[in-house]
Amino acid sequence: MQAAYRGRFAPAPTGPLHLGSLLTALAGFLQARARGGEWHVRIDDLDTPRCLPGADSEILRTLERFGLHWDGPVVYQSQRLERYQAALTQLERRGYLYRCVCTRKILRQDGPVYPGRCRGRQIPSDQPHALRVRVDDTPVVFHDLLQGEFRVHLPQTCGDFIVRRRDGLHAYQLAVVMDDADLGVTEVLRGADLLEATPRQIYLQPLLGLPTPAYCHIPVLVDTRGRKLSKQNGAPPVTADRPEAVLLQLLTWLGQDPPAALGGAPVGELLAWAVSHWRPQHLPKRRRLAIMPAMP
Ligand code: GLU
Repeated sequence: MQAAYRGRFAPAPTGPLHLGSLLTALAGFLQARARGGEWHVRIDDLDTPRCLPGADSEILRTLERFGLHWDGPVVYQSQRLERYQAALTQLERRGYLYRCVCTRKILRQDGPVYPGRCRGRQIPSDQPHALRVRVDDTPVVFHDLLQGEFRVHLPQTCGDFIVRRRDGLHAYQLAVVMDDADLGVTEVLRGADLLEATPRQIYLQPLLGLPTPAYCHIPVLVDTRGRKLSKQNGAPPVTADRPEAVLLQLLTWLGQDPPAALGGAPVGELLAWAVSHWRPQHLPKRRRLAIMPAMP
């Protein structure tokens, strides 16, 4: 029988986990466990040029060290290319796709909204091309558990968007929709930096005959200069020397107010407390959470 609640954590293996991704992992884990649900891990290794060999196992080891044990086998996007191809075929059959040969330079000049230059053009299949999906002006409406209501008109925010890149790689937007549906994910909990991608994913779901899960976008950690903690801007990897201290700090950032008496408690005890006292309504509703450079 399928669990009622099913969540997932989907790191890209581009380096070791940093504190921001661990915060997302912890929130997702607690949200699932507090509902007696399942929590899965997927490795988003689709963008192969950016992946670092061995980063996946390092990420998994860190999760284990922090007591964040997942259910079922770890899913790798790189092993699911056939599914993504099947989705493209389905979109193609329904007349939603077209080839695009616009260069980066032109796209840069156009700005963030693709004006549909290649819509209606006959581009031979042997010419290197990306595939775009047509959008329409029906608003994408959704409610995010933390960030509230959204009503987005895709033609005004991004235009027809890429589902297969010119280099042949399937786009994140397409892959994530297939992955979440195949895994039976009921709620996508992730960092608020992905809020902006959500309407495109919600747009694709019905085109592919898939359900729309619930969404919960938690704040991303930013440094005192307002920059997102990320591998790209050199956020330090999580050190697992004192996982208890790190967990306490993360729980505080998640608005869970762990009692002082938990100081020094082992990881298992901390997580058990956090599961039984989980208050998603206390999660900070902001998109960004500034933290001091001094980390535990
Ligand atoms: N792989 C994405 C990231 O590391 C997360 C994808 C998702 O949660 O939908 O930012």
